[in-house]
Amino acid sequence: MPLLRYEVTDRFVLHAGYACNARCAFCYYLEDLRRGTVKNSTTAQNKRKIRFAHALGKRAIDISGGEPTIRKDLPELISFCRQTGYRTVNIITNGIVTSDAAYCATLQQSGLTEALFSIHSHDAAVHDSLTGVPGSYRKIIQSIENFTALGIPVRINTVITNTNYGDIGRFLASVHAWRPATVNLIVFNPSETAVHVQKNGPVRFSDYHAIGEAISGALDVWKDRFSMINVRFLPFCFLRRHPDAIRTQWQKFHEAQEWDPFLNVVFQKGWVKALAALAAGIFCPGNTPTFSFRRFDTLLGKLLSNFRIKYYYRQNQECRHCDASPICTGIQKDYVEKFGFPGNARLHIEGGKVTDPLFFVKDPKYQRIFPRG
Ligand code: SF4
Repeated sequence: MPLLRYEVTDRFVLHAGYACNARCAFCYYLEDLRRGTVKNSTTAQNKRKIRFAHALGKRAIDISGGEPTIRKDLPELISFCRQTGYRTVNIITNGIVTSDAAYCATLQQSGLTEALFSIHSHDAAVHDSLTGVPGSYRKIIQSIENFTALGIPVRINTVITNTNYGDIGRFLASVHAWRPATVNLIVFNPSETAVHVQKNGPVRFSDYHAIGEAISGALDVWKDRFSMINVRFLPFCFLRRHPDAIRTQWQKFHEAQEWDPFLNVVFQKGWVKALAALAAGIFCPGNTPTFSFRRFDTLLGKLLSNFRIKYYYRQNQECRHCDASPICTGIQKDYVEKFGFPGNARLHIEGGKVTDPLFFVKDPKYQRIFPRG
């Protein structure tokens, strides 16, 4: 019997439609937005997905886009989620429309329980240039204050790029007063669906060491002053002082605030591609460890993650001798192709190779986001 039991998150993401009122420089769908070819879903299509995910056991939903608040049916979708039985209904938003306090109250009356804001700097000019919308910083600040006044818990996403990584400490200082439930520092990952954005010089980061140092310095000061700060998509060796903050593909797989990987692919890419990725996952030698397999979706998630990691990431000789390698995704493939390996260096951990993806988050304070049965 495994020492630890953990399962796939019970949260999933609904991309309600990809239309958006911003033009973020790092957006996965930027080219489609510019061409006007983004896909949108009908209310009925979205309700079918909401029902299906609930039938599979999901009880928390992140309604995303594009930008969900530009949909007229958002209050209806939120109400439908609550009627269907979801415990947690969250929106992921750029905070432009929600600067209207009356609209925020409408969302709360519909049943909204959380809001996750995408804010990328404490400097209005930097935030506005990253979103492509003048005045968007002022609006997102107003939005966060609106939700905070309503008592709706707020989380924060910040994409770390070449233009803002030097100011992470000041950014954290600026958001501290809102007491966000979680801050996600998302190191811009230009692979996967955002490959086109690699050409975008200003946001593309080129130095893992500089980003790692900047984040480490900010965490030294701020990590213990926040309820939770996560760092997404950075290998452990670039954040040696704070390995518990890291979420690679293997950690987030289990995280209550993250998305079920299987449903994510099914809803975004369709069943054929999801089943193909699952089949490929069987033949990717999984290097991650002790899954309890109490539920079938744990197996699906593991196979999908296997495929995703083998396809999009690379490890080198240092990684092969690194004790964190079974739970580290390594370096993004496209980065290696463009710049080579970034001088990653093996970790030595007492006890040798780590096979538990939750090894660094055993402290009880992580129970909230990594619940264990
Ligand atoms: S496996 Fe490789 S990239 Fe990951 S922490 Fe170890 S040396 Fe760094």
